[in-house]
Amino acid sequence: MPKTKAKKQTKYIFITGGVVSSLGKGIVSSSLGLLLKSRGFRVTIQKFDPYINVDPGTMSPYQHGEVYVTEDGAETDLDLGHYERFLDTNMTRANNTTTGQVYNEVIQRERRGDYLGATVQVVPHITDEIRRRMTQLAKSGDFDVIISEIGGTVGDIESLPFLEAMRQHTMKVGKNNCLSIHLSYVPYIASAGELKTKPTQHSVKTLLEIGIQPDVLVCRSEQPLSKALREKIGLFCNVETRAVVEARDASTIYEVPLTFAEENVDTIVLEKLGLPSSSKRDLAKWRKYVDRVKNPSKSVRIGMIGKYVQLQDAYKSIAEAFVHAGAENDAKVEIVWINSEELEQKRSIDSYFANIDGVLIAPGFGSRGVEGKIRAIEYIRKKKIPFFGICLGMQCAVIEYARNLCGLRDANSSEFATTRDAVIDLMPDQKHIQTKGATMRLGSYPCILKRGSIVHKAYRDQFITERHRHRYEVNNAYRALLSDKGMVLSGVSPDGNLVEIIELPREVHPFFVGVQFHPELKSRATKAHPIFREFIRASVLEKETRVAKSKSDPNFSSIGTNGHATNGESVRNGRMVREQTSS
Ligand code: GLN
Repeated sequence: MPKTKAKKQTKYIFITGGVVSSLGKGIVSSSLGLLLKSRGFRVTIQKFDPYINVDPGTMSPYQHGEVYVTEDGAETDLDLGHYERFLDTNMTRANNTTTGQVYNEVIQRERRGDYLGATVQVVPHITDEIRRRMTQLAKSGDFDVIISEIGGTVGDIESLPFLEAMRQHTMKVGKNNCLSIHLSYVPYIASAGELKTKPTQHSVKTLLEIGIQPDVLVCRSEQPLSKALREKIGLFCNVETRAVVEARDASTIYEVPLTFAEENVDTIVLEKLGLPSSSKRDLAKWRKYVDRVKNPSKSVRIGMIGKYVQLQDAYKSIAEAFVHAGAENDAKVEIVWINSEELEQKRSIDSYFANIDGVLIAPGFGSRGVEGKIRAIEYIRKKKIPFFGICLGMQCAVIEYARNLCGLRDANSSEFATTRDAVIDLMPDQKHIQTKGATMRLGSYPCILKRGSIVHKAYRDQFITERHRHRYEVNNAYRALLSDKGMVLSGVSPDGNLVEIIELPREVHPFFVGVQFHPELKSRATKAHPIFREFIRASVLEKETRVAKSKSDPNFSSIGTNGHATNGESVRNGRMVREQTSS
């Protein structure tokens, strides 16, 4: 009889957070995932979000930050972006579960009568549905390890059912197949000159009350954790000393896997899960990347125009895509946030663009700040500053071109105004849609690039796929006019019906590209997105030309070479910096 190969048991790692929120569970999950992958294990990461929204698609960016869209069109938590950028693998709809989805599913089943007269309860019905979702990715047999990040902070009412499901799951599949990692905070009290372990002890106590004993403690702190302190935490929390791991603040999130490797987190995890830990990590590419992020020889300042500049999590993937693109250009990318609404109000906008080497106009919804973006594009186009428009940013570029070069004074998007010249209009299949959730054009779609265009050269390919999240598009009735007046429609859907990319020829502008999709979602740490890469390259060139000109001609003042134009905040390689404003 032929022997059937025994199915390999998938191992589960659960990551919870304690003491305070925003400790970086997503980065911890991604870093551990990367280390396991670097040793040859097949890994995926899923996120459990305790809110009642079915997905974050309907939430304000101020509430939630960016909505990350997967290839299969799910609107998900921004942590999935970190998972993809670190692991360099695509996530799916199944990698993000919310309380809303769980209840939705259970209530639908109840209405169908599937529960056969039972009283439907949190335990076991809700927890069973959570467990089903915890294990669904294992069914394919594609993964050796599944990391589950549980959103929220231990002690929250909302996350209790997820923790209970995690406890049950560990009991059902066995302790040797599950591992609990708790991310905690060890604050440094300056007046006492000491690191304090009490909040961690309390957080672990709360976990123990619900039947979860952490196997590994990852301690965020600003100071190094001494051996004695690790012993103390281990003793009070019932965790082996070697499994009390330090996660010190890093200068870039991409360094965390390397510090975890020094702490041997992956080896401890593999041993505890009974997986072979003899394989060597292959981190050469990652190390090279981190080195390039940390030690660039050049720098550029990119103006980022949007309306959510106070909360940079709203543009998380764009900010990260700049880090990746900077690394490939040996340049530090400094983001200068510019509030689009301010650009509407000022008499002159010159000062905003002083010492700015390139401008990105961000995606967005609604009319607030749109006229500021359009005004900025006219300025950027005329001053020949490298321009990159994403989704709404591209739509604004089309409106600006129609108004100022095609003679259509009232050109607009029907999202913002009722106008005769709706150069941006609702997609036909969007016209009858009433509900808001998950009804946009979402996920990956193919696009064909025009030979010889900027984007064709950037991608080095004519056939690409990119991810979308929008309802409006370029109105085909205006395509001929836009092209006649010099705008290049350099990317279209395979059926030719949808304009996906616009650009201006290099002869008239050094770099002017707008895309209807979201390229930032596909940029990976060690594989920068081609358009971001080329945009930064153009911006570096722009800076070099400006500097050379000002050196050869002391009277040269391009766009106010001496000024400093910001709204007061900028980000250097992902870190917030407050600046003196002098505009
Ligand atoms: N609001 C625009 C639309 O729905 C652009 C969306 C976006 O920038 N993601 O088409």
